[in-house]
Amino acid sequence: MARNARQAPETLLAQAGHFLDRETGAVVPPIQAATTFARDGDYQTRGYTYARTDQPGYTVLEGVLAELEGAEAALVFASGLAAATAVFDGLQPGQGVVAPQVMYHGLQVWLKRAAAKGLIRLTLFDAAKPGAMEAAVAEAKPAILWVETLTNPTWDVIDIAAAARAAHEAGAILAVDATVTPPVGLRPLDLGADLVFHSATKYLNGHSDVLGGVLATRRKDAMWDEIGQTRLLVGGVMGAFEAWLTLRGMRTLALRWERASANALALAQALQDHPAMAQVLYPGLHSHPGHAIAQAQMPNGFGGMMSILVKGGEAGARRVATGTQLFLPATSLGGVESLIEHRIVVEPPDSQVPPDLLRLSIGIEAAEDLIADMRQALDAAT
Ligand code: PLP
Repeated sequence: MARNARQAPETLLAQAGHFLDRETGAVVPPIQAATTFARDGDYQTRGYTYARTDQPGYTVLEGVLAELEGAEAALVFASGLAAATAVFDGLQPGQGVVAPQVMYHGLQVWLKRAAAKGLIRLTLFDAAKPGAMEAAVAEAKPAILWVETLTNPTWDVIDIAAAARAAHEAGAILAVDATVTPPVGLRPLDLGADLVFHSATKYLNGHSDVLGGVLATRRKDAMWDEIGQTRLLVGGVMGAFEAWLTLRGMRTLALRWERASANALALAQALQDHPAMAQVLYPGLHSHPGHAIAQAQMPNGFGGMMSILVKGGEAGARRVATGTQLFLPATSLGGVESLIEHRIVVEPPDSQVPPDLLRLSIGIEAAEDLIADMRQALDAAT
């Protein structure tokens, strides 16, 4: 197959950034650490000048990400939050943002602070309530509708095509945080979104050893130029080593996603009837209210994120969170190792996340070991 023919995401990922070093035959790109680039004899640049503007390591990674997302362009940032806030930085004072009531708390705190300073108008909607998103957008007439493909950490499913219609009818753009559904699981631009965001810290890198953020755009328009200016002027660019590690992590993304999805479904099914369990929140379960939409927009599995509500309230949840032996009691998600987090500990005081909610990030270990570990922790807590 010609190298430029349209390839499946698995193929693009497995060979991400390969065959660059024609001189030595090295099959992976070197880490280019340079922060400055010399001009030629005519005092012209060779495409790079200074690493806050651009760097060969970002170019390769951004090319792969744009192709995976079906985007016109992508930009990588120092963290997810550096990328996400670059989107809102381009708004004019008083422009509106509509976002879910339950979403990644760090970004919501940032949005609330910006609203309190009068920089934006912020409207939050209940993603679990049918029609609430459409009503909020029609009423607020925002510049940006920001959604998560699955809301973190309750995993309500947002219908991306419906969100795009609502946004566009109100003259807004749709920006989608697809951190928990990387481009092997869901491609928001195909469903009508204008902008896709990832915390690359999670599934894209997948090994809990990089902080990074990504934006990918349907079109290189004035808003995209503004985002590029923010990255340049605020300086939240990804480091060269982080870009290299992210590319390396992405080569196994398709396999990691497949395994995490299979493990999570097995765990959700095995534990939903445990006597200590009040509720399992996982879109892969038929009982989940968003299951049909999730199935339609995520044909390659439901991913590795789920939450459980356990009996015994906050104290019961704490007993389970401290009772696992394999699941590591840590924040973050999307890595090869399974994590458990008592979410209320990190949520802000006005959070709507239930105090008995435990967030699980399912890794690529053997499903039977994960099930046994969670079962013994639930047994002990009962
Ligand atoms: N979006 C989601 C859904 C997240 O889970 C996170 C981090 O936890 C972020 C955004 C922020 O990303 P980062 O921690 O890389 O800044």
